[in-house]
Amino acid sequence: MTAGMCAKSAVIAGAGPAGLTAALELLRRSDVKPIVFEADGQVGGNSKTVNYRGNRLDLGGHRFFSKSDWVMRWWQDILPVAEDKAHAASPLRISYQGQTRDIAPAGREPLGSDAVMLIRRRLSRIFYRRRFFDYPLKLNPNTLKNMGLIESLHIGLSYGRAQVMPRSPESTLEDFFINRFGERLYRTFFKDYTEKVWGVPCRQISAEWGAQRIKGLSVRKALAHAAASPFRPASHTPQQRVETSLIERFLYPKFGPGQMWEEVARQVALRGGEVHLNHRVVGVEHAGFKVSAVQVRDESTGEVRRVACGQFISTMPVRNLIAFLGPEDPQVARIAAGLPYRDFITAGLLLRRMKPGNGMPPDNWIYIQDRDVRIGRLQVFNNWSPAMVADPRTIWLGLEYFCREADDLWSMRDADFLDFAARELETIGLNDRNEVLDGTVVRVPKAYPAYFGTYAEFGRVRAYLDQFSNLYPVGRNGMHRYNNQDHSMLAASSAVHCILGGGGKSGIWRINAEEAYHEEISES
Ligand SMILES: Cc1cc2nc3c(=O)[nH]c(=O)nc-3n(C[C@H](O)[C@H](O)[C@H](O)COP(=O)(O)OP(=O)(O)OC[C@H]3O[C@@H](n4cnc5c(N)ncnc54)[C@H](O)[C@@H]3O)c2cc1C
Repeated sequence: MTAGMCAKSAVIAGAGPAGLTAALELLRRSDVKPIVFEADGQVGGNSKTVNYRGNRLDLGGHRFFSKSDWVMRWWQDILPVAEDKAHAASPLRISYQGQTRDIAPAGREPLGSDAVMLIRRRLSRIFYRRRFFDYPLKLNPNTLKNMGLIESLHIGLSYGRAQVMPRSPESTLEDFFINRFGERLYRTFFKDYTEKVWGVPCRQISAEWGAQRIKGLSVRKALAHAAASPFRPASHTPQQRVETSLIERFLYPKFGPGQMWEEVARQVALRGGEVHLNHRVVGVEHAGFKVSAVQVRDESTGEVRRVACGQFISTMPVRNLIAFLGPEDPQVARIAAGLPYRDFITAGLLLRRMKPGNGMPPDNWIYIQDRDVRIGRLQVFNNWSPAMVADPRTIWLGLEYFCREADDLWSMRDADFLDFAARELETIGLNDRNEVLDGTVVRVPKAYPAYFGTYAEFGRVRAYLDQFSNLYPVGRNGMHRYNNQDHSMLAASSAVHCILGGGGKSGIWRINAEEAYHEEISES
């Protein structure tokens, strides 16, 4: 690569949503050529779709919904929304987690097209004590019937106790939950699932985390809602109520989230950018606070080469980036090395049919709350998009496990894991092992950047990185922030803005810093 090219090039580590958005935006807005290196054999990062014998697996179930108009338009520009006969002429309103968006009819494609996003309804429930509860938990006859009168009374008393004698000071997540829901409800619905997700007791997680993540859920609101139900005006037909609040809809690429990013990569290449799969950045050279080159290893041959760069956009984990930069300040190295992550495994299981009743649950995903199994969530991919399944007569599930790299789950052989996962479904009565036709296991390291360990000191790492004139860490692990796709994309766009002389790096760090999390407990 010549020095001239280098001044007008940006090397990008990672072809996930952040890296590919940065690449396409550079091509759209400038003459800077993006050269993307992706360690994996496919694009999309955590938002990729794994194709297993024609059955497509989404790692986590990715809802496409954003508060940002820019992101919503950006997605629809890549994959237009499929025509929905029921709303053919009018603008269609979709809503998710309290936000609403209108999809203009002009932007829609015929339903039969492949390069489209579908509008999907969300249904997710909690499975506990072998029964389904509404999610989010509602105070309604179904919940009371499932809990039983005595248990419901205990929950009520325990809630009352927490209101009269709240824990003070409220320092841990456990205190936070108990003060809002009472001890009994906390132990029933929050403790085990939260601990499954994060792998640490709620007593060791700060109350601040709850304040940031569990906003909006409250027993008082649920009680008020339940009490008001009989008095709602008759003009509020069930359909109207459903339209305004209850039914949530989001966009979803017909072939899963990876379809979006495969199409973006195609457009990057068409416009003259480069995307190199199976190429891992393994070193970063810098003179003072300017990156001069990266070292890239071809994962198929093992060969390492040096690539000069004018700008460097990194979406790799901050922990790795700092190790490559080798800061002089030992504190920066210590903090970065201490940043914790939660890892994730998903087992794709193809079933002939399910129990009970042999039907397929209507849910997109189900939270598995029972303590006697380690599974955290169950995805029903048929309900995300029928095109995710090779044979529509089969049921294609994703069994999700939160774990730690190298723990017993992570190290289990694939065949054993599939057997273990199938047995877990059988234990909770959702499946008969004899109905399993096929399966695959996908491990996702560093799926969740966690806010424990040295995270409280992260400001020092950021201050160090901010000194580099041509280095832009963006994205989820790139910034060690619990970003959704849209946040990663906005950070990437903001980095491009900086590269083109449009502003300082603080704009990048502001994204997803102040607002309540979009994913809420629905992702975790
Ligand atoms: C269970 C789960 C559910 C989720 N649900 C949703 C949802 O409903 N909606 C939503 O919008 N988001 C959701 N997300 C979040 C979404 O997956 C991420 O926000 C998004 O993928 C982050 O994009 P990114 O580009 O920042 O990082 P990543 O997706 O992590 O991509 C980074 C890429 O960099 C590559 N890389 C790493 N190191 C190197 C290196 N040294 N050299 C070269 N390449 C490297 C990786 O292989 C990867 O491809 C979910 C995430 C999880 C885990």
